[in-house]
Amino acid sequence: MVKLLSLWCCLLFAPRVSAQAPSDDAILREAGAQLQAMIRINTTNPPGNELATARFLDSLFKQAGIESQVYESAPGRGAVVARIRGAAGPGARTPVILMGHMDVVGVIRDQWTAEPFAAEVRDGVLYGRGAIDDKGMLIANLQAMLALQRRVKAGERLTRDVIYVANADEEAGGDFGMGWLLKNHPDAIRAEYALNEGGRTRVMSNGKRYVALQMAEKVSHVVTVTARGPDGHASIPLEGNAIARLGRALGAIGAHREPTVLTPVTTRFFGALAAVWPEAREAQAMSDVSSGDAMRVARGADVLRAIPTLDAVLRTGISPTIVGGGIRSNVIPREAVATLNIRTLPGQSIDSTVARLERAVGDPLVTLAITGRGEDSPPMSAENEFFAAVERAAKRVDPAITVVPYLSTGATDSADLRRAGYKAYGLLPFPLAMPDEERMHGNDERLPLTAFGFGIRFVTGIAEALALR
Ligand SMILES: [Zn+2]
Repeated sequence: MVKLLSLWCCLLFAPRVSAQAPSDDAILREAGAQLQAMIRINTTNPPGNELATARFLDSLFKQAGIESQVYESAPGRGAVVARIRGAAGPGARTPVILMGHMDVVGVIRDQWTAEPFAAEVRDGVLYGRGAIDDKGMLIANLQAMLALQRRVKAGERLTRDVIYVANADEEAGGDFGMGWLLKNHPDAIRAEYALNEGGRTRVMSNGKRYVALQMAEKVSHVVTVTARGPDGHASIPLEGNAIARLGRALGAIGAHREPTVLTPVTTRFFGALAAVWPEAREAQAMSDVSSGDAMRVARGADVLRAIPTLDAVLRTGISPTIVGGGIRSNVIPREAVATLNIRTLPGQSIDSTVARLERAVGDPLVTLAITGRGEDSPPMSAENEFFAAVERAAKRVDPAITVVPYLSTGATDSADLRRAGYKAYGLLPFPLAMPDEERMHGNDERLPLTAFGFGIRFVTGIAEALALR
């Protein structure tokens, strides 16, 4: 930290590149004030109320001379879409989107030590709901647009349109956000590539960083487990009691592990991570799972089982989340029910998982039904100009950094985009150690200003790499 701070102090006094380009310090000060203003507009979803934020962003774009429009998807809700036009006509490159969402998840106020919507800065760290999910990225994207606009004003020509999208309703499924925009205003956001949330810039235990660029995501399904049995008065215990039956079934489901499956994205992820991972035994396990050799894959997966976030990308995951049955303490119910959240790996069938679970349970009076079926989306490639631009921009801010393809266990708006034919990639451009990353959706969400500055330079570099050459 001390080292980072002293490095940062040097940057504060870095000479200006030109009269038009403000220093990194001036940019960080401006961006910090913008992020504080965004956090102070409470966009907890539900109800969202993103429209005030959309108007705030719209006014900043208009001040900078960038064309921008607010779209209202429902009363008090909406999106803002801004655009800097690049070369047009034959031979012009396809547009690219920088996107993020304005809504945030709720807070448990008494578990926070900071006021969640005050955006206070303590010891160089900005606290507030949305700081890392996803208002920080919205401001980094905004700053990238402002940097491009300065270049345009100075006489340069973008090689493609760059579109900025700030969405509503991501945290509740996107019906009034990305889903609505894709359905109602597809022309306003037509593009080949999209940079969205969903990835990570991680600081490892040795202080080195890697960028996990999200290129695929797991698919979320809901499965209902129902156990049946004879009902009656609790004074007469009955063989086959539905609640006891459900308990045995959940025991079997809890003990079941889905097979290890490597996708092209996870193979590359573990292979690249093995080269930089600080802990030798885990690094060996990562190189084993990416080897393609069945024995080594099994051995590596065994070691990585101890790290839940890594085990979750090696297999389809099953989490029981709700259980219920019975209405009175002295009545044996006819039915007991549990809910499972199952996240399949891309390309894996939920029906096959359910069939395996039915075999594991092995009880004809316990049925499993898919009551919420998720939709798969195609994985993205690492062999294109977008991935190369992210790598180039990452190296510019940190020459020692590695960019690895990443499969996220959580779902984002990118799935909608990928199904609609976009090449959507997920990033969180701010380098964070695990404890800070885990504050996302949790208590005392925060963003160190040094990480914020890094993220702004990173995203600006990506936009420049994609649109200036
Ligand atoms: Zn988010």
